[in-house]
Amino acid sequence: MDKLRSVKPNILFHLFVNIVVVIFITGASYYHTPLDGFKDNAIYLLHLILLQTTVAGLIYFLSLSKWVFRIVFSALFLSYCCFSFWSYSQDVSVTSGLIQAVLESKSDIVIDVITLPYVLFFMAAVVMLSFVLRFHSKIKPRKEFLIFSILALLCVSLYFFIENKRPGTLKNRLPYNVYFGLKDYFKKPDLILNTSISKVERIKDSIKVVFVLGETVRADHLSLNGYERETTPLLEKEGNVISFTKLHTDHTYTGKSVPQILTDQNLGDTIQPLTSVFSVANKANIKTTWIGNQTLEDSFGPITETNSSVILVDKFKSEFSFNKELDEVMLQPLDSVLKTSTPQLITLHMIGSHWWYENRYSDLFRKFTPVIDSKYVPSQSKEQMINSYDNTILYLDYFLSEVIQKLKAEDVPTAMVYVSDHGELLGEDGRWLHAQGGDVLKNPAYIFWFSDSFRAKYSTEVDTLSAIKNEPITTDDVYFRLLHILGIETK
Ligand SMILES: [Zn+2]
Repeated sequence: MDKLRSVKPNILFHLFVNIVVVIFITGASYYHTPLDGFKDNAIYLLHLILLQTTVAGLIYFLSLSKWVFRIVFSALFLSYCCFSFWSYSQDVSVTSGLIQAVLESKSDIVIDVITLPYVLFFMAAVVMLSFVLRFHSKIKPRKEFLIFSILALLCVSLYFFIENKRPGTLKNRLPYNVYFGLKDYFKKPDLILNTSISKVERIKDSIKVVFVLGETVRADHLSLNGYERETTPLLEKEGNVISFTKLHTDHTYTGKSVPQILTDQNLGDTIQPLTSVFSVANKANIKTTWIGNQTLEDSFGPITETNSSVILVDKFKSEFSFNKELDEVMLQPLDSVLKTSTPQLITLHMIGSHWWYENRYSDLFRKFTPVIDSKYVPSQSKEQMINSYDNTILYLDYFLSEVIQKLKAEDVPTAMVYVSDHGELLGEDGRWLHAQGGDVLKNPAYIFWFSDSFRAKYSTEVDTLSAIKNEPITTDDVYFRLLHILGIETK
């Protein structure tokens, strides 16, 4: 009993410092999570408690020495407050892209920082820190060292246990995402790209192609491909649309699938260097522009940068953000880029149908109801999940038809090529989302549209495609098909 009484101040101190850290740092990673009902909130509260428990272990070890705590804890706490403020206020994702912007101090980030709420938040953090430090100076930090350090070690190892069981559970949240963002930023890219492209020949003089790189769209949820729900009414009304029903990919997540689609890499190949489709187009004097609504991942960022220009419409919000821009924001830059010159290859990289579905479309497209109302998947019905997902397909239908209208207005032959990087599990064998096994994940949507003048000029090309639309093909096709449509001849 005496023992307990003597360590009571230490226990109170650690409770206090962890609550402060939850309020100022770790809580920010949960703030924007859409949740509904007591159960879902309780589950995410438990999630936060588990995360904070792992952090508590680290704080304990820092607290053992007065000066280490004063210097290291203070420095970490205040730097983390910079990130958590953005997470609270703008739901930004701490990724290597954000780290890059901070370290290379891009002006838009600096302007973002100097706002009144930010100054107030930071001042509050400084005040709380001073309370924490004063409290710390009043305790004897090494009291019952053995018991407490064993407990702290257990807390820290909980991190590895959870990450092992469900990778990504903790690592994408504060404070861990800053560490992994830094690690990614300093890491040498695994991807080696071919920089010396041999001479290519171009047989089409003026052409504009929009390549839409989609996200998480499975082929069998398009009414264009025979899905019983009307999810693609606008594309069905459109002439000159060819939709493939049996495209196959082995890859079930963006980081693996996108590099394969954008380069000459064949499925199953691991040979490097890879040749970017944009490098080949550049060599053929075709202007290449990437307009993206996804943050650049290391897996495909270097390929993106082989475009002659890159426009990212919402570069600090990854799929982990809940108030990310809608894909239609890309239509305006598309408009201005389309007008500039010919020939052109413009890529639109969508956030598409990536979870959380409700943030991927506007209210106008909420046709199938009831929709999902909580991010906690097990509390959602299969009907809700599929309704929300199908609404994202309706939105895709609108988005692609807007792209087509813009291409129709051009006075040169135009084409649109759409491919999704992979599909999505919608309750098959009780499983959801992607980045796992499952046939429906490996059959993404693949759609073409050609203008009347393209069709008139290159009719055999269009007819050949039309003839094979129900044949099984793989994503190896995309790279060569794009070059072919652009009129580039390679060996
Ligand atoms: Zn993806």
